[in-house]
Amino acid sequence: MPTFDAIVIGCGGMGSAALFELARRGRRVLGLEQFPAVHDRGSSHGHTRVIRTAYYEHPDYVPILRRAWERWYELEQLAGRNLLVETGCLSIGPADGELVAGVRESARLHGLALAACDPAPFRVPDGFDCVFEAKAGYLMVEDCVRAHLERAVTAGAELRTEEPVRDWRADGDGLVVRTDSETYHCAKLVVTAGAWATRLLADLAVPLTVMRQTMLWFEPKQPERFRRDRFPVFLYESPRGAFYGLPMIDARGVKVARHYGAPELPNPDGVNWTTSDADEVPVRDFLNECVSAPVGRCTARQVCQYTITPDRHFVIDRHPANANVVVAAGFSGHGFKFAPVVGEILADLADTGATRWPIDFLRADRFA
Ligand SMILES: Cc1cc2nc3c(=O)[nH]c(=O)nc-3n(C[C@H](O)[C@H](O)[C@H](O)COP(=O)(O)OP(=O)(O)OC[C@H]3O[C@@H](n4cnc5c(N)ncnc54)[C@H](O)[C@@H]3O)c2cc1C
Repeated sequence: MPTFDAIVIGCGGMGSAALFELARRGRRVLGLEQFPAVHDRGSSHGHTRVIRTAYYEHPDYVPILRRAWERWYELEQLAGRNLLVETGCLSIGPADGELVAGVRESARLHGLALAACDPAPFRVPDGFDCVFEAKAGYLMVEDCVRAHLERAVTAGAELRTEEPVRDWRADGDGLVVRTDSETYHCAKLVVTAGAWATRLLADLAVPLTVMRQTMLWFEPKQPERFRRDRFPVFLYESPRGAFYGLPMIDARGVKVARHYGAPELPNPDGVNWTTSDADEVPVRDFLNECVSAPVGRCTARQVCQYTITPDRHFVIDRHPANANVVVAAGFSGHGFKFAPVVGEILADLADTGATRWPIDFLRADRFA
C-alpha cells in the first residue's frame, strides 16, 4: 500500500497551501483532489479575492492575517509571479453597523492605520460612515492556488488530481484513505475539502451549510473612474445586504457581488452552477442606489460556493475523535486571504499537535 507521512484531501485554496507547507518541511506528502488542479467547482475561483487587515469580522483574526500577508509576499517571490495587488479598501456602512464599527474596533485594538476618505463614486446616506484602510487589496485567486501547487510539487509533494477520496478510517497508529483507484496509508491526515467537508467531516459535530454565490462583472460607462489607482476594493453594508467589489482590471469590467443573502443548503449537491438574469437583480439594484458612476451591461457571471458555520468563523483544529487528523473547514465566505497561514497552521498541527498561532477561537468544539 503506498504510504505517506501525510495526505491532504482537497487541494483548493487551503489544501494547496498545506501541501506546500508539508512538502517544504520535508514530509513525504500526497495531495488528493477530486477535480483537475485549479478548477471552478469549489470555492477558490473567479479571478480575484479581497484581502484586508482591520478585520471587522473579529479582531482575533488580525495576528494570523498579518502572517498571511508575509506569506503571500513570500509566495510571490518563490513563484516569480505577482499574486497580490494593493489598492486599499473602502468600507461604507451605518456608523454603528457591523462593518465600519468593526473595522474601527479591529484597527484600535491592533494599532492599524485607517484614513479618512473621499467615498466617490459611492453615495453615503445620512448616518453612514466610511473609512479607508491602505493595507488591503486583492489576490489573483487561481494564480495563488496554482503557485502553491507548483511549489508543493517542486518541494517533493505528490499530487493526484481527478481522484476523489471515498472515505478514510483510523488504522493502528495511522490512517487509511480510500479512493476509487487506490488505497493509501498515512501517519497524518489533513482534510481541506471545502464544501464537501459537509460529508467528509460529518462526524465533526460542526453544523456546516453551503451557500451559492454569484460573482458579476459590469462594463463601466466611464472606465477611468474604476481604474485601480482610483477605485479601491470596497465593502458596503447597505439596507439591501452586504456587497463588495473590485476595480476594473480587465475587459470584463468592475466586479461586484452580494455577500451571503442566499439559502443555506445541506451540501454542495444543491448548488445550481448555471447563472440567470435573476442573479443580476440584487447587484444591479445596489449599483443603482449606492454608486453614482453609471455601469452598463453585465459582461460575465460566475457561480461559487461558501461553506458556512453558525457563527461564520472558521474551524481549524485537530479532529476531536482522532488526533492524527487535522481539519480546516467552514471558511464562511472570507477565508481565502488566510490560505498560506492556514497551510502553516495545519502543518504545525499535523507535525506536533500544536501551533504558535492564536487559533483558540477557531476550535471545532465551540459548537458542542
Ligand atoms: C464568490 C466568493 C467570493 C469570495 N470572496 C472572498 C474574498 O474576497 N476574500 C476572501 O478572503 N475569501 C473570499 N471567499 C472565500 C474563500 O474563497 C474561501 O473561504 C476559500 O476559497 C475556501 O477554500 P477551501 O480550500 O476551503 O475550499 P476549496 O478551494 O473549494 O477547496 C476544497 C477542495 O477539496 C476538493 N475535494 C472535496 N472533496 C474531495 C474529495 N472527497 N476528494 C478529493 N478532493 C476533494 C474540492 O474539489 C476542492 O478543490 C469567497 C468565496 C466565494 C465563493
